[in-house]
Amino acid sequence: MTLEDLGYNSSLESYRTEHDLANFGVGRVIAEHKERYIVKTAIQDYEGEILGNLRYTAQSRADFPAVGDWVAISDYDTDKVLIHAVFPRSSILQRQAVGKKGDAQIIATNIDTAFIVQAADRGFSINRIERYLTICNDSKVNPMIILNKIDLVSEDILSELLESIAKRLPKVPVIAISNTTQQGLDVVKTLIEKGKTYCLLGSSGVGKSTLLNTLSGQELMKTNTISEHTSRGRHVTTHRELQVLNNGGIIIDNPGMREVGITEVTEGLELTFETILELAKQCKFKDCTHTTEKGCAVIAAVDSGEIDAMSYENYLKMEREKEHFEATVAEKRKKDKAFGKMVKEFKNAKKRGKY
Ligand code: GDP
Ligand code: ZN
Repeated sequence: MTLEDLGYNSSLESYRTEHDLANFGVGRVIAEHKERYIVKTAIQDYEGEILGNLRYTAQSRADFPAVGDWVAISDYDTDKVLIHAVFPRSSILQRQAVGKKGDAQIIATNIDTAFIVQAADRGFSINRIERYLTICNDSKVNPMIILNKIDLVSEDILSELLESIAKRLPKVPVIAISNTTQQGLDVVKTLIEKGKTYCLLGSSGVGKSTLLNTLSGQELMKTNTISEHTSRGRHVTTHRELQVLNNGGIIIDNPGMREVGITEVTEGLELTFETILELAKQCKFKDCTHTTEKGCAVIAAVDSGEIDAMSYENYLKMEREKEHFEATVAEKRKKDKAFGKMVKEFKNAKKRGKY
């Protein structure tokens, strides 16, 4: 296996030579668990630990390595390496960290195409697809919808589902598949290109692992766990999240996500709700919130049926979430600043011998 097989390319190599990283090795983070990383190189997998420097200069969680990242490594031991730096990311899929208001959590990085997976039989929700779509659009990741488990629904229901997706999201490709009957899987296979990175997004139970097993032609999940010694001498099992398929595609399977909270996704919303935001330009007020204003072109379009009412509601919901996220981040910055000022004043006072 070469680094190119893992998705390495010339722009990453240029970055390496231009940023004094020529003396370091290169690897890709294929799994992460509580600040422990599995780094894959052309030769083997290592357990990667982050160098103190990287930890101290990190401004937020987002500066830490994530699955999909390219990292500069050194100090090779039999199965350990130190991670010095994270290469610039070509894309970052992120969501609002669960339970930590105002913190973004990276889902995966350096993704070319995301497969948004949903099951046709239950839990089907276009609102949820729009949510993933917003996240993809914000990060310039190419989205595709996979409608799985079509063996469990009738032809009529299937065409209804496909129609409803096409109506609300006319620009996003949809592939209907079944892991059970293998229907549509050849389409997915031919879409996957060598050296490109794909990611599976979707709630747990929609069939992501099964799809990954089918695509790789092996029972990955069974061989997919690696037992390791931690520094504390305990065995932990790490789920490998990034895999190279036989046809050369690279695929990241994320743990199922119950919540997909929105972060700062202005561009993502603009692209996902293109029609709404295009119409918004015609609203009477520049700062129209499209909720109660007179002369709102969006409300008028919802009333006339030009815009899908559910899509409109979903847009407003995500817009509110985005604003809430931004406000929380701003609040945090203010607090951090105030705290910094306090520390500084304390230090100065100390210098003057006040304490
Ligand atoms: P994940 O949580 O998204 O990784 O979902 P899994 O791959 O674990 O699948 C959840 C369940 O759905 C398992 O019992 C699978 O066997 C089943 N499943 C996956 N794909 C299909 C399918 O195309 N048709 C049917 N009938 N069941 C499927
Ligand atoms: Zn308006």
